[in-house]
Amino acid sequence: MKLSHRIGQVEPSPTLAITARAKELKAQGIDIISFGAGEPDFDTPQPVVDAAIRALKEGKTRYTAASGLPELRQAIAQRYKSRGREVAANQVIVTVGGKQALYNATQAIFNEGDRVLIPAPYWVSYPAQLRLAGAEPVILSTRSEEDFKLTAAALRAALEQAPTRGLILCSPSNPTGATYTADELRALATVLRDFPEVVVFYDAMYDELYYQGALAPDLVASAPELEGRVITFNGFSKTFAMTGWRLGYAIGPAEVIAALGTLQSQSTSNATSFAQYGALACFELDDSLLAERRQAFMKRRDLIVGLLREIPGVICPEPTGAFYAFADFSAYIGDAPGQFKSDVALSEFLLEEARVAVVPGSAFGHPGGLRLSYATGESLIQEGLRRIQQALNDRP
Ligand code: PLP
Repeated sequence: MKLSHRIGQVEPSPTLAITARAKELKAQGIDIISFGAGEPDFDTPQPVVDAAIRALKEGKTRYTAASGLPELRQAIAQRYKSRGREVAANQVIVTVGGKQALYNATQAIFNEGDRVLIPAPYWVSYPAQLRLAGAEPVILSTRSEEDFKLTAAALRAALEQAPTRGLILCSPSNPTGATYTADELRALATVLRDFPEVVVFYDAMYDELYYQGALAPDLVASAPELEGRVITFNGFSKTFAMTGWRLGYAIGPAEVIAALGTLQSQSTSNATSFAQYGALACFELDDSLLAERRQAFMKRRDLIVGLLREIPGVICPEPTGAFYAFADFSAYIGDAPGQFKSDVALSEFLLEEARVAVVPGSAFGHPGGLRLSYATGESLIQEGLRRIQQALNDRP
């Protein structure tokens, strides 16, 4: 069947081959240690599970308002107070995962040919979603020496180059774990002041998995003058270990959120009713639960970064949030004897020889790096890194 030219704009993920091979090996009974996961290994907190079950038993199984339960929108708005922001319930839309919030916003904001800046390494879906909207992703490389963060100077240079409609920032970042400080956000905002037509998507999906305090700095709280042109994205998947529940949200100017609501009402309608009722319980959880999980992630981060840095030639900036380490393995890539042709070839070698699954940086627009998720136990981190070290030592 002939497919639309729209779908032709989107390529299958370059990580798929490795993920598929890892699954194949596992199915053969081979013990693979996976650093590929984009989800916490913790369980959804029990009170949240109980609340969803209760909702099901009480028959809360019908359509809700397309933009989400009013009380959930209110609770999310309220939670943003702790980020130093005043948010009203009509500035919040509840979506089927943060991914849908980003998709809907991309469709609602960008036109054909709009230039949108994305610092690399980036989360894989940003360019794909922009292409589906006919917009033009413009990739801005960042450097490990600058913790993979976009500098104010680089932003200005890109904005001066051509008329630009958007900028997508992710902090803490998937795949690097880098987090913009409030000062860095203010420096970017100072540049944006000269380009009032630029809309900013601020993906804060990991902002409660932050290791220099409880909450990563928020863009609008840091630079309130941007409020009218920032859409903030967040969700339940990462903070509350609820990836399968498919619940996320966007926060923005009320008229933009209303437009996202219109799109949602004509596409998916509401996010699952009982998932939303369950999510209400997230706001009643004891702070200590999240604090404990954050502590556990931080310990794993220290372990994995320490072990990566022990591998000769590997550079790994310290991630300050999320649960990924992004290490520069470019010393192992090239045409010299003993080097691998690409980061994909290196990842394949690690899978076949070390029995360890990692994601090559080229999937995130940054060849030469490898992303390792540390949402896995400490003993597996230790064993996995031992295997990587040994396979590289013994390579032909
Ligand atoms: N944004 C980033 C940076 C992510 O890493 C993810 C998940 O991997 C998402 C958004 C979407 O998350 P979800 O759709 O599960 O809420």
